[in-house]
Amino acid sequence: METKHCDYLIVGGGAAGCTLGYLLRKAGANVLILERLDAKQKDKLCAGMVTDFDLGEITKIFGEEALSALDAEPISVVESFFGGYELISRGEAFYTMPRKRLDDYFLNSYIKLGGQIKDLATVRKINLETNSAECVELRTKKIFHVQFGNLIGADGATSTVRKLTTGKKPRISFALESTIPLVGKNIIFDHLPDGSVGYRWYIPHRHDATVGVGYFFSHTNPTADYAKSCREWLSDFCHSRAISLTQPLRGAFLPAGDDVLLRAGEQIYFIGDAAGLIVTPSGAGISYVLLSAKKLAESFLGGTSYEESMQPIKENVTNKAAKARTFQFLTNLRILKLGKQVE
Ligand SMILES: Cc1cc2nc3c(=O)[nH]c(=O)nc-3n(C[C@H](O)[C@H](O)[C@H](O)COP(=O)(O)OP(=O)(O)OC[C@H]3O[C@@H](n4cnc5c(N)ncnc54)[C@H](O)[C@@H]3O)c2cc1C
Repeated sequence: METKHCDYLIVGGGAAGCTLGYLLRKAGANVLILERLDAKQKDKLCAGMVTDFDLGEITKIFGEEALSALDAEPISVVESFFGGYELISRGEAFYTMPRKRLDDYFLNSYIKLGGQIKDLATVRKINLETNSAECVELRTKKIFHVQFGNLIGADGATSTVRKLTTGKKPRISFALESTIPLVGKNIIFDHLPDGSVGYRWYIPHRHDATVGVGYFFSHTNPTADYAKSCREWLSDFCHSRAISLTQPLRGAFLPAGDDVLLRAGEQIYFIGDAAGLIVTPSGAGISYVLLSAKKLAESFLGGTSYEESMQPIKENVTNKAAKARTFQFLTNLRILKLGKQVE
């Protein structure tokens, strides 16, 4: 049976895996990425919003030329609503771009440095004592082994590496999204009603837009049918803005925000969504993808340990998740009370 050898085995060829792969290849390391889909064809579901901070981090990692390659569209007005009340509407430094352009840029940057990626392949068993993984080619079902120095779970919100190394799947949230024709130039966020933590969004791009809903948690109905509630909320949102859904809805999972795990053993690490890094409840994850990949690469290359440099980020993520739940619950109560007084 075939055995491959590498310094770093990265499971998941998304934004996080390719960014880490790029940084390690730049330092001359022997890296292998396993991707369960076709890395060049895949099209990750994402609203496609990035901030000034994200573009700054991308420039630090990939160089100034990344900005012209990515050609992000600046959006200056963000409207934010809660239960029909406008909360803020102000100038912000947000940008949008099709997510595929971002993922392709990270992937091609890694490949240009001679990075290896094995498409349509995944890991089935991990032996923590021998640092080896049993892997499978998904199309042919052929088994192969990889002997690694370090293993990195960059396999997204439903991380298989987390399940195989800790026995538990990460906690997840749910999102639905669709692409629509452009109907306005502002970004719109609309908090979910009914004691539920999450957002509905309208994100304009140059030629089209995305609408979607991300559902993190319900205070009033924790066992709600996520998919059904999301469909109804998104349909109300579109209806109230005279938006018709012309394309099918697509669904995806994202981290819950309160289940961060950076490491599962001596040589097993997690980055991006697989680590559970997300802003609750907006669902923004790109900044944490970049930060976690950069900090893990730095620690491998002799810098501060990953866990130590990520500690403030981990706290920030967990605190934001806790605050979002409390804030939205309290705001709901206040609005309900106000509503009663007005009646
Ligand atoms: C609907 C939606 C909208 C979003 N909008 C925004 C936004 O506007 N701005 C923002 O900042 N963030 C947004 N996010 C979050 C952002 O997309 C994620 O945080 C980011 O994609 C995480 O990147 P990643 O590389 O960690 O994971 P992913 O992009 O999910 O990549 C994981 C990769 O691993 C592969 N994989 C999975 N399992 C295996 C396996 N077992 N074996 C091999 N490969 C595997 C997958 O195919 C994938 O290629 C959104 C998320 C969703 C769901």
